Amino acid sequence: MEGTSQLVSTARPAIYARVSSEQQAQQSTIESQIVAICEQVRKDGLFLDEELCFVDEGYSGSTLVRPALEQLRDVAWAGGFTRLYVHSPDRLARKYAWKVLLVEELQRCGIDLVFLNRSIGVSPEEDLLLQMQGMIAEYERAKIMERSRRGKRHAARQGRVNILTAAPYGYRYVGKHAGCGQAQYQVVFEEARIVKQIFEWVGRDRCSLREVGRRLRAQCVPSAKGRNWHVFTIRKLLTNPAYKGEAIFGKTRVGERRHRLRPARGQPEQPRSNTSRYPGAVEDQIIIPVPAIIHAELFEAVAEQIAENRKHHRQQVEKGPGYLLQGLLVCGCCGYGWYGKGSTRFARNDRAPYPYYRCIGMDSFRFGGVKVCRYKPIRLERLDAAVWADVCNLLQNPKALQKEFERRLSGDSQPDINVDQIQKQIRSLQRSVSRLIDAYEDGVLEKGEFEPRVARARERLRRLQQDAADATQIADQRKELRLVLGHLEDFADRVRQGLDQADFSTRREIIRSLVKTIKIEDQHVRITYRVTPRPFANGPLRGHFRQHCHRRVQRDHPRDCRQGAGCPLPQSRARPVCPRLSGPAFPSRQPRPRGRGFLRPFLAYRASTGIQPPNKGGSFRQKERARSLDTVWT
Ligand SMILES: [Zn+2]
Repeated sequence: MEGTSQLVSTARPAIYARVSSEQQAQQSTIESQIVAICEQVRKDGLFLDEELCFVDEGYSGSTLVRPALEQLRDVAWAGGFTRLYVHSPDRLARKYAWKVLLVEELQRCGIDLVFLNRSIGVSPEEDLLLQMQGMIAEYERAKIMERSRRGKRHAARQGRVNILTAAPYGYRYVGKHAGCGQAQYQVVFEEARIVKQIFEWVGRDRCSLREVGRRLRAQCVPSAKGRNWHVFTIRKLLTNPAYKGEAIFGKTRVGERRHRLRPARGQPEQPRSNTSRYPGAVEDQIIIPVPAIIHAELFEAVAEQIAENRKHHRQQVEKGPGYLLQGLLVCGCCGYGWYGKGSTRFARNDRAPYPYYRCIGMDSFRFGGVKVCRYKPIRLERLDAAVWADVCNLLQNPKALQKEFERRLSGDSQPDINVDQIQKQIRSLQRSVSRLIDAYEDGVLEKGEFEPRVARARERLRRLQQDAADATQIADQRKELRLVLGHLEDFADRVRQGLDQADFSTRREIIRSLVKTIKIEDQHVRITYRVTPRPFANGPLRGHFRQHCHRRVQRDHPRDCRQGAGCPLPQSRARPVCPRLSGPAFPSRQPRPRGRGFLRPFLAYRASTGIQPPNKGGSFRQKERARSLDTVWT
């Protein structure tokens, strides 16, 4: 028991908790986990630092890419804590192999793992039991999923509607108890009338879906959720075979997460789940009869019209100018994406005889007649040309970029610090603290002598741990930087020759390989490049480009972080087109003050951004500024 008490005295605890669905998160199950864990920490006589509470709410255990877990692993590696409390092994990961991986990784970092319902590493038998428990949990999960899938298919063959998701617009779901022993869909007559009307507008009057939306808005008809009738909502309604009396079970299936260029508005960069929905195979679909609202002929006519609309739309897109930056543009005002709009659509009034990019928030029809964005559209060829020029410049001068990166990472003058050496010192200090405690317990040391010595040792330990964390962070950044620059140079070598003659699709792929997002702000356009390891591995010469690594993105420094240099996350690696884009407006844009206060705005700029304002010397920054076409964007 003596050994345990020593550990208790010197351990620095951290906790990890996870619930897999948002529903669970809302039902406060995470709080119960945290309370139980904190109770255990308190019982062990330890003080829990708030920064060392790692909580993943609404993240599945079937993925390792969870923000809090990522942070936990980083902090563990940097020696930020010595003991980790977790409610049960399945909170760490669902899959046995991943669980073992995490446990081993944490143990390698010298971390003592405590599961509330299980001890670990006490003996080989305990380890075996933990492994068995993990395997059985995995088996149980697979078994439950398979049973549930078979049960649902069986119910679908019996024609039961309760295995379908919520009743579509026009129907009401009546449960088993209210429906005399059989769950069913009941037609809501007022809504059914609207559904019929929508089908007739498209199938008979050959209206476009936008026109349907306009008509519904004119009649002040609310959608099922009481919102605006979006084109996607209307298309979903028109393609739902339940309206002709044939609800389908197995319309979609779950698959690997789709790649996406950038996170959707309001969504975290880190996806909560690593799955996406795809259309289900036709042979796996089961038809469940429900009351019909329209005739099958009308449904077919609508399907034909939608296919024709789509064909027409594709022809328009092909005829259009091609949108080089589609999918990458984000609005700094409202957060919606920007999309390209061709000139052909404006042939009627000739107001905009050129293509341009505009924000979704500028379309008042999408938001009940009121714009949510105050920005103005941007001419397509100007934005395309500016971004392409910047990308070309980057590819032609990777060395200049390297210099700039190294300058920004600062610590340029600092030599590489030996992290292993610091870790060794930490371990030795931890041992000496243990020895002090032993000596005190054995009565060799008096309390008056023991307390200041332990306090000094702990203070030194804290400083060393901080040094280790800082050194690890700097080393990490440098390693990553070298890796990225190496790959960037390789990539630049491959594509440099053909840059001038690159066709549209090559240019688009090169841009998508290098650029993460392009944020349109009031005065500026901020290009954020991907600086993840191997972002160009599958660049244009190898076919598909690769999406950015979520893990790295998660580690990016949040822009609104107020912790300054003390923040454990690496500084943001966004490379703006112009130094003015990095923060508040550059002082030279404002009237220059005269007299003694002349330097004040420059000093304020430097204090707020940490960047030197460009001077008259031929610096890289000045070249950037000259390249930035900064007058075009406003
Ligand atoms: Zn906007």
